[in-house]
Amino acid sequence: MLISGRLAISANSKQMWLSAISRGFSSDVGSGATKRICIVGSGPAGFYAAQYILKHLNGSVVDVIEKLPVPFGLVRYGVAPDHPEVKNVINTFTKTAEHKNFNFWGNVALGKDVSLQNLRERYHAVLLTYGADQDRQLNIPNEDQPNVLSARKFVEWYNGLPGAQHLNPILGGQTVTILGQGNVAVDVARMLLSPLDVLRVDTTEYALETLSRSKVEQVYLVGRRGPLQAAFTIKELREMLKLPNVQTLWRPDDFTDVPAQIPNLQRPRKRLTELMLKSLSEQSASTSNKKQFLPIFLRAPKFIKDNKIELTVTKLQNDIAVPTNRSEHLQADLLLRSIGYKSTCVDGGICFDKRSGCVYNEYGRVLKDAASKTVDKGLYVAGWLGTGPTGVILTTMNGAFSVAKTICDDILSNEVDTSKAKLGLEAKQFKRLVTWSHWERIDQAEMQAGQKLCKPREKFVDVEEMLKVAGL
Ligand code: FAD
Ligand code: NAP
Repeated sequence: MLISGRLAISANSKQMWLSAISRGFSSDVGSGATKRICIVGSGPAGFYAAQYILKHLNGSVVDVIEKLPVPFGLVRYGVAPDHPEVKNVINTFTKTAEHKNFNFWGNVALGKDVSLQNLRERYHAVLLTYGADQDRQLNIPNEDQPNVLSARKFVEWYNGLPGAQHLNPILGGQTVTILGQGNVAVDVARMLLSPLDVLRVDTTEYALETLSRSKVEQVYLVGRRGPLQAAFTIKELREMLKLPNVQTLWRPDDFTDVPAQIPNLQRPRKRLTELMLKSLSEQSASTSNKKQFLPIFLRAPKFIKDNKIELTVTKLQNDIAVPTNRSEHLQADLLLRSIGYKSTCVDGGICFDKRSGCVYNEYGRVLKDAASKTVDKGLYVAGWLGTGPTGVILTTMNGAFSVAKTICDDILSNEVDTSKAKLGLEAKQFKRLVTWSHWERIDQAEMQAGQKLCKPREKFVDVEEMLKVAGL
């Protein structure tokens, strides 16, 4: 079986060639001084950290393990299909993957196919970047009704994450209410209100088909705080305001005290607020036959009953939403909870803070235990798993570079011992290991499938199908 098309092995060393074949990968930089680093997760944090380490740490080999057969994390399964320019980071990640000392180990999940202890025995340093693939709950009555979904699941559905294809969101009613006002909430609102041809780029066919039958006319975006605390950003709001055949309607009462605050605001917040006020001042009283985008502020979810949600009217005290004794209800044929993603602990060996949903760490160095703050030498965390589920790709990149620098510094200063040779993982440990060459086959097949549909790619949504296409 050819497991990697990129075996980079010195011609004069038959022994090395055999050893590389048995391990399955390129990598031996040729001396006992090889510094082996394993990165868990192939999202932006994993790829940017790999890029930094390969550039700055001579004699390093970076192995990235990924639970899916395909790389790129939320760039593939989070970023909205109508934002193809954001996905260009994949080109940079691919360049990193083509480095001779980089190996991709797809279809290998930490906590299932391999343990943290196993990784630590086989690598000088392990960097955890497995992201946040669950979501936070509101903990209000009837949150588990069939018409209540998490925005995360909806995003995974339209983006074709394996397993998400059976979600079957109810789009037969007129009204969708989204709880939360971050950029994920706005992405989801845009997907529900955009003309289909804009979404075709990278939306899976089954989702396009369901969206084509959608009866949704009104999308509410409910925030528990005020316009000055809105979590969405200006670019995303602008996109909403420009959507063809969509009218944005604000509630004037939500803005009563806002204009007076403008001079005290920092620039990004000031520009965002001015845009909301401009849009409010231009909104026409007459309703048209357009679809509607309806942001609502100062309302906190209280309970759900059938296709309605009861909201508590809130007021702000020091920027915090405090409940009043007033409430109101909203129609919600479908409710989407969009209040943030959440990481989980996938291996008992990780010092994980359940409350914050992050791995305990100090500047990326994982702690042995939170109380004593002792660093667990050789174990690191970056990306959403270390910081919590906030920040755009650029934020994640800066964080990953910084932790990667810490890894390099710790190795170069012997804080992390690299005197003993480490072997890295062995291909024979895994049944159907996906290498970078295998991914390239999946990638090609997806692009070919897309061509037939006049779109850049049509993703495989079934792991078995991906593995078959890869020849495994
Ligand atoms: P992830 O991207 O989640 O990567 C984690 C990786 O680890 C995944 O590949 C996952 O499969 C893998 N993994 C999980 N568990 C295991 C395991 N047990 N073993 C091995 N591997 C595992 N930012 C922008 O700049 N622009 C945007 O338009 C944008 N849109 C977004 C849309 C959505 C819906 C979301 C949620 C985020 C968006 N972001 C956007 C933010 C951006 O996606 C994040 O900043 C970034 O992806 C975080 O990177 P990460 O590597 O920490 O996590
Ligand atoms: P987010 O930006 O943190 O927004 C979460 C929203 O949920 C906030 O409005 C928050 O309100 C609300 N919320 C939290 N708990 C709540 C509760 N118990 N009840 C009611 N409301 C609650 O998270 P996100 O939207 O998941 O986005 C995550 C990150 O990805 C962000 O940094 C975002 O910018 C990024 N992203 C970027 C893009 C893009 O660039 N196009 C697209 C998607 C995501 P409070 O403020 O009151 O807590």
